Amino acid sequence: MPEQDRESGAHTGTAEVCQEKQHLSNEFLEAVHEMNVLLKQQTLALIEGDPDFSRFDLLLHLAQEKKERTKYAWIAHVESHGCSGG
Ligand SMILES: [Zn+2]
Repeated sequence: MPEQDRESGAHTGTAEVCQEKQHLSNEFLEAVHEMNVLLKQQTLALIEGDPDFSRFDLLLHLAQEKKERTKYAWIAHVESHGCSGG
C-alpha cells in the first residue's frame, strides 16, 4: 500500500505523529473498508438473486471481528501512550 504523502504547509502544532497510532488507525480503517466492500457485494448478490449470498456472512463476521480487534488495540494504545493528538 502506498504511503500517504505528508501535507505540505499544514502545521497543526503537533511535532510528531505517533507511528504506532497511525498504523493501528490504518488497520481499523482498512477493516471498516473491508466490511463496506463485503456489504456492497452481498447486496449485489441479493439483487442478482445469487442463491449463495449467505457466503458473505462468514466473511462479514471475520471482517467485523478484525474491526473490533483493531479498534480496541487503537484505544488501548492511545490510552497507554497518551497520543490521542488532542
Ligand atoms: Zn502512540
